[in-house]
Amino acid sequence: MENAGPAPMIPRLTYGVVGQTPDWSFDVLQELQPSPQVFCIPFRRREITGILHLFSSPVIMGKYANVVAVGLIGMLCLLDGYSARNLKTEQAEIEQRQLLNILPSWLERIRNNLPSSLTGRSASVDVPAATKPAEVLNWPSIELDVGQITGVAVDDKSNPVILHRGNIKWDGGSFDRSGLYNRIADGPIKNDTIVTLDAATGSLIDHWGSNLFYMPHGLEVDANGNTWVTDVALHQVFKFPKGSQVPSLTLGEAFVSGSDDKHFCKPTDVVVSSSGIFFVSDGYCNKRILKFDADGRLLDAFTGPFNIVHSLTLMEEKDALCIADRENSRIVCIHAGLKEGQAKFGSPYGPAGYTGKDVGRVFAVAAKGQQLYAVFQSIFLGMSDGKTLDLDTLSTVSRWTPASGFGSPHDVAVSRDGEAMYIVQIGPNRIHKFALE
Ligand code: ZN
Repeated sequence: MENAGPAPMIPRLTYGVVGQTPDWSFDVLQELQPSPQVFCIPFRRREITGILHLFSSPVIMGKYANVVAVGLIGMLCLLDGYSARNLKTEQAEIEQRQLLNILPSWLERIRNNLPSSLTGRSASVDVPAATKPAEVLNWPSIELDVGQITGVAVDDKSNPVILHRGNIKWDGGSFDRSGLYNRIADGPIKNDTIVTLDAATGSLIDHWGSNLFYMPHGLEVDANGNTWVTDVALHQVFKFPKGSQVPSLTLGEAFVSGSDDKHFCKPTDVVVSSSGIFFVSDGYCNKRILKFDADGRLLDAFTGPFNIVHSLTLMEEKDALCIADRENSRIVCIHAGLKEGQAKFGSPYGPAGYTGKDVGRVFAVAAKGQQLYAVFQSIFLGMSDGKTLDLDTLSTVSRWTPASGFGSPHDVAVSRDGEAMYIVQIGPNRIHKFALE
């Protein structure tokens, strides 16, 4: 299916990479769902000229062409702001005062969203370079013929498994305002959406998953080899036993969104404990994490002031469940409640508590021991970043990107042996491999 689509949902603010065909900008826009307020507020005050200054550096211009587009948006917002001020209404004055009050936090948020190479902020507390994830170059050795890769997991043989959308893209016409998928009549994705790659070479080992999904999003392969998939069009979560294309568990009602015990609304991710208890992040519209027993019976729910719970990672030995609260630009860690008689599910884990920590616009988290690995996507397209964070404090330990830079990183997974980390992106559709210490 072509990505021509109907009119964009955010007509006032369209951006892309100047000089490049924005073949993916449309659905990235949809995936990012930036709001005009988010864009305009930082640009509305003269105090922000420092930021605009940053954009005008020739080095940055050369490296990040799309910054030009962002600068233009800034100018538009500025003009918008002037016209609002010229109205001299009482409301406009109140608005200005409010803007001034929130400006410092917005500046901090912008800095968190920019890669360290731009902000000049020290990349990390003293960490020897050797402990940073190291990109495995020239991997995979083959060219993958895949669509938007939205999920990655690692199987019991330490091979990476990816979930992609074939020729389907999430664009402005994919859903109606109530969240109903608009293209049910097109049928499910015909391509094999689940692909296993060889950890050493990246060559194809297995592929399956055609005619099952409409807009798959999250992927997990649990310790017993079951494959779990969330689908945001179907509003469902599936569990496939090893070697089977028939789900042994299906949760949610096909194409029906909701927020009760039997429905999801665009669920994003699944993590599974060794006992089979699993957690679902729900999701794009609901603001909750659901906990189920191994048979799929709902045990508990944790609802928070989330703005797109986009990814989960479980550190069972610590009873920690960390959540990528995407549009709030923060990571929140809670207790998974897996240890009898100890901390309850949903109680805060670590000193950051329920408020979590503002770390930048975080798309996905994975973990190894005391370290969290997270991928970030700036509101300034193309300036994405990977960060290692300390699980307890959520402070940044190091920052890393592949030599080619990240496109729009969407998911991250660490192998069970802890030696490799994989990151998939939705534009361009690629997988990156990093070696971990
Ligand atoms: Zn997503």
